[in-house]
Amino acid sequence: MSQNELSLQDVPETGETKERQAHPFHTLKELLDYVSGRTLPAATPEEAVLSEPLPFPFLAIVGQREMKLALLLGLINPLIGGILLIGPRGTAKTTAVRSLLDILPSVERSLCYYGCLPEDIQTGGISAVCPDCAKKYGEGLPLSAPGRVRLVELPLNTRLEDVVGGIDEQVSIDHDRKRIRRGILARADRNLLYIDEINLLADDIIDAILDAAAQGAYTVHRDSLSATYRARFVLIGSMNPEEGHLRPQIMDRFGLRVIVHGLDDPTQRLEAYNRVHAFHNNQRNLIAFYRDEMQGAAREIQSARQQLSKVDLPDKVANPAIRLIHKLGIDSLRAEITWFEASRAYAAADGRSRVTPQDLQVVAPMALRLRRSKFMTGFFNDQIVEEEELVGLLAGLNRKVK
Ligand SMILES: [Zn+2]
Repeated sequence: MSQNELSLQDVPETGETKERQAHPFHTLKELLDYVSGRTLPAATPEEAVLSEPLPFPFLAIVGQREMKLALLLGLINPLIGGILLIGPRGTAKTTAVRSLLDILPSVERSLCYYGCLPEDIQTGGISAVCPDCAKKYGEGLPLSAPGRVRLVELPLNTRLEDVVGGIDEQVSIDHDRKRIRRGILARADRNLLYIDEINLLADDIIDAILDAAAQGAYTVHRDSLSATYRARFVLIGSMNPEEGHLRPQIMDRFGLRVIVHGLDDPTQRLEAYNRVHAFHNNQRNLIAFYRDEMQGAAREIQSARQQLSKVDLPDKVANPAIRLIHKLGIDSLRAEITWFEASRAYAAADGRSRVTPQDLQVVAPMALRLRRSKFMTGFFNDQIVEEEELVGLLAGLNRKVK
């Protein structure tokens, strides 16, 4: 086996050879620190002639450490329950999400339009897949192949019909029979679903998305037909709080919450400008400049995903965290689910199989902020007052009875 073929799993923990040539980071922390530390060479101005916009390299985004960490944790562990990016316009939220395109990990993907997977047959029998796949399965042909996670963006002005799916008009006309067309949610299965300006989305659409995200599946009923689809996706939402609120119930459904600020440091701002300028001048040049590191980051993420199932959270680490949540007055159980899953992802990225209190500490702000509801606190306080009043009145009543 040559040096280049060495996989991360084969490298001993203490090995100095671990991908040294490809990139200088071995942990998520090093990766994040590395991002801000590189200066571009002087750019040669060149007109870019591209029909398709290419993604800005993730590693070229200056600063915004917490946003980048949240997005990477979401790639490593889909169980963190989604990511909400909150901040004003022009703070690279959408750029950061799209920049994930080149570092997305690989998953087992269906080869069929209807998204049939071998596990459907294991759980629901042969009738759980479409006739084509049932035939293939009988012939011993594969129903799935490894494929990259995709970034699915919810288009602006999307309709509920597009989101959940509806009658496939073309099939109805051509074949005189009705079939349900897969919606965006079904296409988002095992992918990332990005919704920009989520606070401006219609209530029925956002409810459908959140229900599907919570269940990992959803059923569509159209005319006499119904179909159930898998929808296990990592939801990424972004919003500008100046443009409207997000209902508290919706806010609670997001695992990690990142407050994205503009860059404060003038040096960082200039560096960010230089990179954006270099990108506009020649997209492919900037992408090529980061290629090796981006490939290294993609490998780190893939290997962290494989490591994740081995990561254990000991009770003695978890218990103080639960007490802290109680102390903060947070009711939602999603707080600890997100907090613990994000910590496991962080430990996995570090190549460890046990969560430490430090892991919990790093991801705590993202998992716990904006969880305490002013309404609920007020509600409980009002309840206490009401209860006391009732007890007092009842005592009075008892005295009168006697
Ligand atoms: Zn199929």
